[in-house]
Amino acid sequence: MKSAIITGITGQDGAYLTRLLLEKGYKVVGLIRSHYGSNLNRLKYLGLLDRVELVECDQSDLSQVLNIISTHKPNEVYNLAAQSSVSLSFQQPIGTINFNIQSVLNMLEAIRLLNPSIRFYQASTSEMFGKVNDLPITEDSIVHPLSPYAISKVTAHYVCINYRESYNLYTSCGILFNHESYLRGENFFVKKVIKGAIDIVHGKREVLEVGNLDIKRDFGWSEKYVEAMWLLLQQDKPDDYIISSGKSITLREIVYYVFDKMKIDKGRIKINSAFFRPTEIQDIYGSNKKARSVLNWQYDMDFFDVLNLIIEEEYKNYGK
Ligand code: NDP
Repeated sequence: MKSAIITGITGQDGAYLTRLLLEKGYKVVGLIRSHYGSNLNRLKYLGLLDRVELVECDQSDLSQVLNIISTHKPNEVYNLAAQSSVSLSFQQPIGTINFNIQSVLNMLEAIRLLNPSIRFYQASTSEMFGKVNDLPITEDSIVHPLSPYAISKVTAHYVCINYRESYNLYTSCGILFNHESYLRGENFFVKKVIKGAIDIVHGKREVLEVGNLDIKRDFGWSEKYVEAMWLLLQQDKPDDYIISSGKSITLREIVYYVFDKMKIDKGRIKINSAFFRPTEIQDIYGSNKKARSVLNWQYDMDFFDVLNLIIEEEYKNYGK
């Protein structure tokens, strides 16, 4: 039986990846911050809580990470833990940068010292390509981070490449564009819009406050994106892959679609400049050609179909 460690198992991707690996017959060990404070709702929602082993670990402490690797002897490590919000990273730059880099270094040091055959997946991000010159973004595009979050992820990405090139470790980075689901954190745009709109329908709020709606992003469906994570670690050689839908839409299109679908007057959308970011990517989308041809990863969902799925699930669970 193959075994995997998932860091960030309590997050959106952690929950879906756990389900996928269990379906594939893996033993899954998940790292959590604490048995007392961690949010286990996503794992609970998918009915996975009693099918995984959850272990406390402060990933910024090398001795704890060494202990985890030597005790659990995984074949694969999926490193999803990170302070993952761009907005929050402007408020907490030091914590974001420290954790998102240190945790990767510790895991790779532990793997290098204890068992260099362990395969390592790193959750890299499209945010690394902040100032965009040429679209679509490819694996060869030049990085230029525009936020503390993006800076941390660029560094972590290059730490992985460096351990691959210097020590021959199997480190692969999935450069994922935005991907959404019902399990997305409530501070992220799509979830916030859908939840807010349903609140308006139920008379629980008057307006939805949003930031800059003119920016364009490449959005996809989380459940399909975690399949790519697994595929990345099944290749003969480690490498980096863009995982994206291949096209971008404006945030305005998303809000208007949700409001139209729920028959809400668009006058209830209120632009609040407090939500604008100090620096912002205007338009970005990625080419998933390499993932399609090398990994044989299939993706053909339209983002409005993704919105429909999330809206349906949100309605089903509203108030629960
Ligand atoms: P979430 O924000 O839903 O989950 C983040 C996970 O990281 C949670 O389990 C959280 O634990 C954990 N975490 C955060 N800070 C710490 C910390 N200081 N110590 C230990 N654990 C911590 O993210 P997603 O599931 O959406 O994303 C997974 C990964 O993919 C992240 O690294 C993210 O940056 C990256 N990514 C995501 C994209 C997306 O569109 N979703 C796009 C590109 C990259 P807790 O529950 O305790 O807070």
